[in-house]
Amino acid sequence: MDSLSDERADTAFLLQAIEFASRKHSTQRRKDAGASPYINHPIAVAHLLADAGGITDLLTLMAAVLHDTIEDTETTPAEIEAQFGETVRKLVEEMTDDETLGSAQRKQLQIEHAPKLSRRAKPIRIADKIANIQDVVEHPPPRWTHARRIAYLDWTEKVVAGCRGANPALERHYDEVLKRGRATLAAT
Ligand code: ZN
Repeated sequence: MDSLSDERADTAFLLQAIEFASRKHSTQRRKDAGASPYINHPIAVAHLLADAGGITDLLTLMAAVLHDTIEDTETTPAEIEAQFGETVRKLVEEMTDDETLGSAQRKQLQIEHAPKLSRRAKPIRIADKIANIQDVVEHPPPRWTHARRIAYLDWTEKVVAGCRGANPALERHYDEVLKRGRATLAAT
């Protein structure tokens, strides 16, 4: 295959992942007051990886688009593997919390698992946290108190601490978004 047809295949694969995720998340909404379509979130995560992180690796971008499908929809790991291969399936599984556990335990496990994430999964985790900070600061779930929003930001710092070294540019972007987020919350 020449490089141009490789590029075409890459683009088609990435769009296939976006289409797959958008179908899987089609009935779901984010928790903001405007109930944004859920798919906005995984697309934002993939965009952060490409833009702030400079990542062009197709498998990372596909896994970012798909990262919440197993956790939040009826999608199975086998389905992901059949369409997108073993590496992407493993990455999505790395991003999947055990939904049988309570929220506090899931949060603690994310902190503990962060240093053990693979080289490709760490940036996805960081971008996921950047996107969520932006949501919590700018479009919070209506019932979240100020204290809960700050506690969320504090928690992301502990998760990201375990992912550092994976992508310095993305980590700097996280630091800036966190700093701005804290300033915004302090002023409200
Ligand atoms: Zn996510």
